[in-house]
Amino acid sequence: MKKKIVYILAAVMGLMVASCESEKPAFTLSQDTFNDISPEGEVLSIDIQTAGDWTATSINDDWCSVYPGSGTGNGTIRIEVEANLSQDRTGSVVVYCNGERTNINITQSALPAGQELTYRIPLIFHVLYQDANDPYQYITLQRIEQVLDKVNQYYDGITIASGGEDSQDINLEFVLAEADESGNLLETPGVEYIEWNEMPINCESFMQSSNERILNLMWDMNKYVNVMLYNFADVSGGTILGISHLPLTVQGANQLEGLQTVAYTSLENENLGYPQCVSINSLYFDEDTPQGYYNPLDANVTLAHELGHYLGLHHAFNENEGNTCVDTDYCEDTPPYNRDYYILSRESFIERDENGDIIGILPGVFDREDCNTGNIFTSYNLMDYEFSYADRFTPDQRERMRHVLEYSPLIPGAKRTAGTRSVAPQGVLDIPIIYKVCGVGYHQTCVKSK
Ligand SMILES: [Zn+2]
Repeated sequence: MKKKIVYILAAVMGLMVASCESEKPAFTLSQDTFNDISPEGEVLSIDIQTAGDWTATSINDDWCSVYPGSGTGNGTIRIEVEANLSQDRTGSVVVYCNGERTNINITQSALPAGQELTYRIPLIFHVLYQDANDPYQYITLQRIEQVLDKVNQYYDGITIASGGEDSQDINLEFVLAEADESGNLLETPGVEYIEWNEMPINCESFMQSSNERILNLMWDMNKYVNVMLYNFADVSGGTILGISHLPLTVQGANQLEGLQTVAYTSLENENLGYPQCVSINSLYFDEDTPQGYYNPLDANVTLAHELGHYLGLHHAFNENEGNTCVDTDYCEDTPPYNRDYYILSRESFIERDENGDIIGILPGVFDREDCNTGNIFTSYNLMDYEFSYADRFTPDQRERMRHVLEYSPLIPGAKRTAGTRSVAPQGVLDIPIIYKVCGVGYHQTCVKSK
């Protein structure tokens, strides 16, 4: 009999506990409705109060990302809402806790027609090193910040070398990534250090590689531009300073000429099967250009130039072999010139020592002859080099880069096609790998079929 009473008591107490729990909500959120998110994008921060386990999932993860995806107890949920170039939209993040569910609702209008978005593109520098004590391998965050500052000046249209006019503000800022792919804040923003058993590395093999270890280095290309820093293996005939893939373009109405086409507006890293990225030769990453001097190894120019390729620019000069005069960069405001002819004719403006090393140059070395009109012009273009003031882009180049930012798959930032994006296909696409090789005494466009 006693036993029975104990059972009944326990059952009653259990009921009391259960009813107390059901009266108190499993969790509370500091805010669950956001009606007026800026078209330029915003980062939202929401406090969750609970004693239980919870999950937070975005229903619209192509423009609204949530970090972290789960937690226990009190915490903060961060929601990153991308800029909106397509149409007004609503989305939600679903929070589950102890069997209860609440939606965080988000409404965002589109950027008004005629208004231009300022892109902020996160870079992640993957520093590959074999010897952590070698300053030419283990590049410091401080040096990366210095170079990126200068690169951003070039993209802001601030002419550094020549103090000239007509430079273009691309309305684009490169920023060091603050968080990793899971939303964890990085100890060194924008930089990860990776021990690598091979150094130097053959950069062309790297850019074509389907090796898992190399592919695994890559962070989500839809969110970051991956910049690899490593020692390049020597090549004959010159020095390679940087190398970059060209972006893809979506075939159809918004196709951009001079790029490899694909049928999909949306792709994932796994669809390429090669590491679409920028690689910079870290052996020259300490090089700057002192005032009133010309340094073809300048790392600031190299990174700005390679990012130009990554955003769809070709070299400003005639890239065709031979003597035909063809404009090969799809930009009418960058006059083509015959590169082979220039390299021969510029010798009269270069002073060399007995070993053939350059000890002085005359201003004529910056002159080019437009192979269509015969007009002489000065080389100021970042996509030209050796020897160029290399500190600006033209309006046509600006238009190409903006087009890639607004439409190309696997390029971070808001897309005009966001409302109608297809789902990424499965598996590796059968497309050639196209990249530009750039350096002193060296330029090449390589097209490799898989
Ligand atoms: Zn180049």
